[in-house]
Amino acid sequence: MRMRGCFFKSKPVDEAYGKHSFQFPSLHMAPIILDGKKLSQTIREELKAEVATCMAAGHRPPHLVAILVGNNPASETYVANKVKACAHVGYKSTELRYPDSLEESFLLRKLAALNADPEVDGILVQLPLPAHISATKVIETISPEKDVDGFHPINIGRMAKNLPAPLPATPAGILEILRRYGIQTTGLHAVVVGNSNIVGSPVSILLARDNAPGRCTVTTCHIHTKDLAHHTLQADILVVATGVVGLIKPDMVKSGAVVIDVGINRIADASGKGFRLVGDVDFEGVAPLCSHITPVPGGVGPMTIASLLQNTMQLYKQHLGI
Ligand code: NDP
Repeated sequence: MRMRGCFFKSKPVDEAYGKHSFQFPSLHMAPIILDGKKLSQTIREELKAEVATCMAAGHRPPHLVAILVGNNPASETYVANKVKACAHVGYKSTELRYPDSLEESFLLRKLAALNADPEVDGILVQLPLPAHISATKVIETISPEKDVDGFHPINIGRMAKNLPAPLPATPAGILEILRRYGIQTTGLHAVVVGNSNIVGSPVSILLARDNAPGRCTVTTCHIHTKDLAHHTLQADILVVATGVVGLIKPDMVKSGAVVIDVGINRIADASGKGFRLVGDVDFEGVAPLCSHITPVPGGVGPMTIASLLQNTMQLYKQHLGI
C-alpha cells in the first residue's frame, strides 16, 4: 500500500467550530474524518441564536417555502428533512405538495405569487420535477432575491463573478467543511469528478475563485474524461459527485489527499429499511490513504441542509434590511 504523505500546512480551525488546531496527519496516522453531521449541528445552533436575536429586536422569523411535486420517495425525505431543520432553528416553513399531474403554468403562477409575498424570504422547488415541467423555467421564475438554492442564472453569474449571492447549497456546504476544518486550499490542485449544474460545476467555479477556501488549480472531470485515474491521482483535493457507487478506488487517490464524497447512493441490504447509503468513493479502501475524508452518510449531506438554512438567513436579512 502506498504511504500517506503530508503536503499541507495546517492552520487554526475556524473559531466557531472549535478551539484547537488540526494538524494534518503525518505518515501512518489515521485520516481526519470530516464530520458534517457535527458541523451542521454547530451551524444550526449558530442560526438558532441569530433567529433569537432577530426576534428579540421585534422581527418576524425567517420563512422558507418548499415545493414538492409528485411522490418521489427520496425527494419526500429531502423536503421533510429541510422542513424539520427549519423548525429546529426557529424558522417558519411552509411545505406545498402537489401531484405529479400538476400543470406547469399553475406552478409558475404560484411562484410569481410567492415572489410577491413580503412574508416569504426563500423559495425552493425540490428537483427533479416531472418530465412535463421545465426545471429551467421554474428556476428562472423564482426571484433571484428568494432563490435559496442559488440555482437562478443571475445568482450563478454572480457566483462566477465572485459577487455576493446565495451559493448552491451542496457546494457551499463543501466550502464550509474546508473552511471550518482549517484546510488551506490556496495553490492546491482540486480535481472535481462530476459536472452537474447542482454540484460539480459550481464546486469547480468556487474552488477556483480568489477566495478562501478557493484559489485552487481546478480540473473538472465528467463522463467523457479519458483516463479518469490519471487526473484523480493528481488531486490534492478530490471532490466526487457522480452518483456512481465506488467509482473512486484506492489506486486512483494520491497519498495525503483531502477527499470529499458527495455521492448518496442507496444499495440494497438486509437491514429493516432494505437499503443503506454509500458514496461514490470506496471509503474503506481510500480512507487509509487520505489526510481527510468525508463519510457517507454524515459528511456532505447534513452540510447541504445547513447551507440551505444559512442561505435562508442571508436572504431574510437582505429582505428585511437588517
Ligand atoms: P448528476 O447525475 O446530475 O451528475 C453526475 C455527474 O457525474 C455528471 O457530470 C456526469 O458526467 C458525471 N459522471 C457520471 N458518471 C461518471 C463517470 N463514470 N466518470 C466521470 N464522471 C461521471 O448528479 P448530481 O451532481 O446531482 O449528484 C451526484 C451525486 O451526488 C449523486 O449521488 C447525488 O445523489 C449526490 N448528491 C448529494 C447531495 C448531498 O447533499 N450530499 C446533494 C446533491 C447530490 P456527464 O455530465 O458528462 O454525464
